[in-house]
Amino acid sequence: MQVTSPRRAPGGFPVVGIIGGGQLARMCQPPAVNLSLTLNVLSEGPDAAAALVVPSAPVGSHLEIDDVLAFAKECDVVTFDHEHVPADVLQALVATGVPVHPKPEALRFAQDKVAMRERLTALGLPCPAWATVHDEAELAAFGDLHGWPVVLKTPRGGYDGKGVRVIDAAPEAADWFARGGALLAEECVPFSRELAVLVARSPSGQAAVWPIVQTVQTDGICTEVLAPAPGLDPSLAADASQTALRLAGELDITGVFAVEIFEIPGTDGSAPSYVVNELAMRPHNSGHWTIDGSVTSQFEQHLRAVLDLPLGDVGPRATWTVMGNVLGGDYDQLYPAYRHLLARDPGLKIHLYGKGVRPGRKIGHVNVYGDDLEDLRARARHAADYLEGTVTE
Ligand code: ADP
Repeated sequence: MQVTSPRRAPGGFPVVGIIGGGQLARMCQPPAVNLSLTLNVLSEGPDAAAALVVPSAPVGSHLEIDDVLAFAKECDVVTFDHEHVPADVLQALVATGVPVHPKPEALRFAQDKVAMRERLTALGLPCPAWATVHDEAELAAFGDLHGWPVVLKTPRGGYDGKGVRVIDAAPEAADWFARGGALLAEECVPFSRELAVLVARSPSGQAAVWPIVQTVQTDGICTEVLAPAPGLDPSLAADASQTALRLAGELDITGVFAVEIFEIPGTDGSAPSYVVNELAMRPHNSGHWTIDGSVTSQFEQHLRAVLDLPLGDVGPRATWTVMGNVLGGDYDQLYPAYRHLLARDPGLKIHLYGKGVRPGRKIGHVNVYGDDLEDLRARARHAADYLEGTVTE
């Protein structure tokens, strides 16, 4: 692997290393420019989303200890674009003495859904009923106790709903059990909507939590985020925010992280409640609205947090911000679509990731903010659809 020392700005400014060259690393670059920080990204390839825009992006693998150590030598702090760095590589990285955020002990709870469920349960935080299951008989026993269908998950490696199945009867999971290893069985939560709590915490313990958002999923992929979540019960909001802050402290999480939760409607006039679905320890799709809708974006905040700088204001810039994800269509002419969209909606903010278009792939997002939620939703939806090629005017 070819590694050169990244050039740093005069004045003692640090180099922030990010393992992984995806869109999250890419979106750290604008705030890095403004803060005079130099980003150094360990990139999957020369054309990765971040490699196209950061000043230093050596190509190497997050699975190879030698690549990660050679890369880390040139960084003052190391953080992540994704959660897939294996434990042995993380251990070797920490042993070099370079600060790593979040630390492997915390990251484990975002990498392994069983470890996460065990820890949350030990902390007394609200979770769906769950168990590890090793075969059809154990799954059947779980389903008979907690009701069918059951949500079955692979403990590691899932994203965008891959690694999650709704099972109506145990034999349906035969193929997963044939692969061996434990699976996570969860009660199918009768939620009314999905919410996310985004938090930043620095190594010295300062923490900040953004307003809770609603995430709207289509076929297991988040397509829209409403900030703040409309009509959210204030005591649920306060409780869920407290839970996220408590988790940050108990798990010693550093950097930006998200707690995904399910809102459960109250019955017979009682207040709604919630359970925690999962944790993501990095800037998160549910926080992309903050680039335009919050005084401090999650990407700026993440850089501040991992450097142990004071955190920024997480207040909203407008009553509402709506984020629409742009999923790849089946054409490759994105640039011409700009002219039309920019003319049609001067308040629209487009963020693309420099990725090639493939069906279903997240290639960018749009943000709009203002006072009229339904108008904002319609504008965000139209822009995303237009960039996806599903509407033509
Ligand atoms: P991923 O790691 O792929 O993001 P998640 O655990 O977030 O997987 O699950 C993906 C989706 O599956 C969730 O957004 C939710 O819609 C649904 N889901 C997950 N767990 C449950 C559950 N226990 N009950 C009902 N739906 C669930």
